[in-house]
Amino acid sequence: MHHLVLSQLALNVPVGGDLSLRRSAFKASNLNFQDKSWAPVITLDLKANNFRVRNRHVVCMSVQKASASKVAVSPLGLEDATQPPLNLHKPKEPYTATIVSVERLVGPKAPGETCHIVINHDGNVPYWEGQSYGVIPPGENPKKPGAPHNVRLYSIASTRYGDFFDGKTASLCVRRAVYYDPETGKEDPSRNGICSNFLCNSKPGDKIQVTGPSGKIMLLPEKDPNATHIMIATGTGVAPYRGYLRRMFMESVPTYKFGGLAWLFLGVANTDSLLYDDEFTKYLKDYPDNFRYDIALSREQKNKKGGKMYVQDKIEEYSDEIFKLLDNGAHIYFCGLKGMMPGIQDTLKRVAEERGESWEEKLSQLKKNKQWHVEVY
Ligand code: FAD
Repeated sequence: MHHLVLSQLALNVPVGGDLSLRRSAFKASNLNFQDKSWAPVITLDLKANNFRVRNRHVVCMSVQKASASKVAVSPLGLEDATQPPLNLHKPKEPYTATIVSVERLVGPKAPGETCHIVINHDGNVPYWEGQSYGVIPPGENPKKPGAPHNVRLYSIASTRYGDFFDGKTASLCVRRAVYYDPETGKEDPSRNGICSNFLCNSKPGDKIQVTGPSGKIMLLPEKDPNATHIMIATGTGVAPYRGYLRRMFMESVPTYKFGGLAWLFLGVANTDSLLYDDEFTKYLKDYPDNFRYDIALSREQKNKKGGKMYVQDKIEEYSDEIFKLLDNGAHIYFCGLKGMMPGIQDTLKRVAEERGESWEEKLSQLKKNKQWHVEVY
């Protein structure tokens, strides 16, 4: 019998041994699981000592032994297709999915709010890592009376198996778009973003219209399981990489045994704004030879010129290594706000010139070799 102590939404479980968490265990902890999407038994074949309850779902936060720790996923039929699923549900016939949970991802000192949203699609909107879902917020399109809102795209932040490893959910990482009046500096809720606020305000059980999946640019190239992947993100741009990294380091997928290098550069405002930092830090500990993680905190760190530390400053710091990896066939990905690209491109161009190379030629070669993946919005 495992000794479970519930404190501040954390279940402390004794270290060692396989662990089965059953409904009854949670009932004993005064948690009531009414939700139909809750799996009656979660068996975690792990040596783990720390689990967190996220809106009635248990998420393993810390695993002691990497080699034995990957989570079995199902159904493995999700590996059979040779082509990714595309636009299974179009805007005229969206799929009605159900919100499982909405969780604030950032700490109190983060400017703005970003939420992790788990959506139950019951296996009806399958996707691959790196794809996006479309969401149609409820209500009328202000520009076309009587018509629904336009679709908004969101990168999927989970693997095809979802956060519960059963192929039934997709997770999104959504930042609320809040409008501040430039004259008064005050929030004007009438101009806040429609869909991001709908998503961040939604509650478990709410219905949501989804389309897709869409996108091929950010698919994880899996032919070579030993490839190098350099992933550059600002803010919610980390979403597809969370999916990649769970596939590489958290899941046990017979058809994809990652043995290469994944290097994540994440730029956010401050420590409180870091996204999925606990997962990434754990991979660093468990897979030090296969994972690197560098962060740029623009409001807390300074670059070498004394200015704000942006993601391109981190790229510059490691530019020699990055260029060598690219020359050896590494994939490089960029995801996040559009505004990140000019600064990054300028840095890469400057570094290339310092090395006596033409950035234009290098870039066109990277594109030709399908090593260059950009999804900015
Ligand atoms: P909208 O209602 O569309 O408004 C857009 C902006 O205009 C808001 O900032 C709003 O405050 C402002 N605005 C509204 N009215 C006025 C007005 N009268 N005057 C001035 N400004 C006004 N976003 C994420 O958070 N996470 C992701 O993972 C993500 N992935 C994406 C992937 C792709 C491929 C693309 C294309 C986009 C992605 N986005 C993502 C962005 C997302 O699609 C939406 O654009 C974003 O959430 C804003 O949508 P909204 O409906 O909330 O805002």
